[in-house]
Amino acid sequence: MTDKLRPKKSFGQNFLTDRNVLARIVDSVKIDETDRILEIGPGKGALTVLLAQRAARVVAVEVDRDLVGYLRKEFSGIGNVEIVESDVLKTDLAVLLGERWEGRWKVAANLPYNISSQVLFRFLDNHELFSTLTLMLQREVGERIASGPDCKEYGILSVLCALHFDVEKLFIVKPGAFYPVPKVDSIVLKFTTLPAPRYDVGDETLFRRLVKAAFSQRRKTLWNCLKSAGLTQDEQSLLSILNNCGIDPGRRGETLSPAEFAFLSRTMAQ
Ligand code: SAM
Repeated sequence: MTDKLRPKKSFGQNFLTDRNVLARIVDSVKIDETDRILEIGPGKGALTVLLAQRAARVVAVEVDRDLVGYLRKEFSGIGNVEIVESDVLKTDLAVLLGERWEGRWKVAANLPYNISSQVLFRFLDNHELFSTLTLMLQREVGERIASGPDCKEYGILSVLCALHFDVEKLFIVKPGAFYPVPKVDSIVLKFTTLPAPRYDVGDETLFRRLVKAAFSQRRKTLWNCLKSAGLTQDEQSLLSILNNCGIDPGRRGETLSPAEFAFLSRTMAQ
């Protein structure tokens, strides 16, 4: 291995080396020969090659220039793989994918753990582009996304993802499946985009601000978290909105279900 291809911590590079895990991930994507796949962070192409065997096309976005050079050589004879050198957080996914195909894409990725939440926000922003996302995440982050109210893991992404996706926990992956070996377990989750948002939230930007504010200080009450967030004209209107929704201001944000957040947001938007 040349020095350039040594795993770089700054890019969250833990390469998947376990063939069984790779095969399970690819099976979970449920690919047919007409599918277009977006892969984020192809690394050395371990997953990419398997995806390309089943799909019509694979577009793989990699930020590491050294890996891009390596991948372009490796895949030079494989016509249905395109390696895009780009930072996914700075990429307009609608433009990237829309220029290539108008249909819905499937995403498959072993995400760099240091930016996985930010990547998920981008998928949320662009959910209409995708039919499914099969993602490997740090276990703790994945458990949080897939959990419901009153679980200690329940958080912002659990609520926001519930609006646009069905989220299913598929399987846990142990550190030994990677090189270098990470310190934590991983989990594969499958997100299936809903045909329409699960709830009417009135205004999605407001909904996001509300959810973020409600979880901003987990030990504080909803009232304390929301009153300083500037979501309503004044404290009196906030109190009457909470009352109208039948939500006790003394509750903590983490006890509200996604449906209750939606109701609150819809009422505020009105
Ligand atoms: N898919 C490979 C595998 O399973 O072996 C590599 C997975 S590794 C956990 C994450 C990959 O994402 C690395 O190749 C890394 O260089 C790439 N990456 C990190 N940050 C990125 C970013 N902002 N945009 C695109 N790719 C990124």
